Amino acid sequence: MAMRQVAADGTCKLLLRLGDGRTVESVLMPDFHPQRAAGCISSQVGCAMGCDFCATTQTGFERNLTSGEIVEQFIQLRREALAAGRTLRTIVFMGMGEPMLNLRNVLAAVKRMADPVLGALGWRQVTISTVGIVPGIDELREADLGVNLAISLHAPDDATRADLLPMGRRFDVREVLAAADRYQASSGRITTIQYCLLAGVNDSLAQARDLARLLSGRDMHINLLRYNPTGLSLRGRAYTPSSMEQTEAFLAELRAHGAVAHLRRARGPDIDAACGQLRKRATSSI
Ligand code: SF4
Repeated sequence: MAMRQVAADGTCKLLLRLGDGRTVESVLMPDFHPQRAAGCISSQVGCAMGCDFCATTQTGFERNLTSGEIVEQFIQLRREALAAGRTLRTIVFMGMGEPMLNLRNVLAAVKRMADPVLGALGWRQVTISTVGIVPGIDELREADLGVNLAISLHAPDDATRADLLPMGRRFDVREVLAAADRYQASSGRITTIQYCLLAGVNDSLAQARDLARLLSGRDMHINLLRYNPTGLSLRGRAYTPSSMEQTEAFLAELRAHGAVAHLRRARGPDIDAACGQLRKRATSSI
């Protein structure tokens, strides 16, 4: 292990050194349940997706992780959870990288983690998150594992989304949600819509209403995320998190328009909690 940080709230962030000297991040997050924890793992070293507010992509893409390297993160997190008196109950692929671009190795790793003998996690305890790679979502559907799907949407309209996420220029909101609909129809799993609130960018009440309208008639859950500032963005912007007041107003507007939405509490705000932040700092200090 190259580095380990533990936050006041018990969130534990690991920087793991791979056989070739590269590093990846994994995070253990304590659950409200006193004996449970969730793990967040990486699928790639770095990332090529270029999401403007993300620290991971600032160091570029280096390579895909092997299935063994993905499983190793699970093993390390399970060890950390046990040491903290908890059981690792869920795994989310929301760390470094775009899982759909390394899907073969991600699926091989998931099969080992979910195996009753090897990992004993269970399919439904795994969530794979994507920035919206439509062919990847369809391939995941064809794999028929019954894992959960999360979509990083971050804006209800194509213009704002494409400005934040370059992949939004390749696959528009309508196409991404249609792929999620197909996945949901086939797997029976409710899709989570990830939405990171950025002040003055995607947090207006009009955008909340547009988002609620977009998801109307769809059985999907919105997960609102608090932004962890990571310094200047890839394109030199200084994003800031929405105020708590605006966050709560956005959440209330969503609910008032029929959406199912929750605010995910910030994890480990006193450590390098944002994805890629610890690795970026470790790399720049070498
Ligand atoms: S948010 Fe995810 S997909 Fe986007 S650049 Fe960061 S790691 Fe890659």
